[in-house]
Amino acid sequence: MEMETPTGPTVAFLNFSENGMGGSAGTYSLGTQRLYVNTNEEIRVRDCKSDEGVLKHEYVHHLLWASGAAFENNINHRSAFFGWCVWRH
Ligand SMILES: [Zn+2]
Repeated sequence: MEMETPTGPTVAFLNFSENGMGGSAGTYSLGTQRLYVNTNEEIRVRDCKSDEGVLKHEYVHHLLWASGAAFENNINHRSAFFGWCVWRH
């Protein structure tokens, strides 16, 4: 039996202020399966650890979506998997 493997999200590093995307450190688009990390350093201090934490958090959103988790649980961070991440929003 062959298992179905979900595709990975598209990842983009953008300055959210310049793209009208608000002031969060990252976001995940359930509609497009795109994961964004904010590069605007006026909003937060960025380094490899902070970007890694943002990527993990947004990737949990993607994995929950790909696994068919309830939409409300995903957007409201009701999965224990979010607790494994360094960063929350
Ligand atoms: Zn989130």
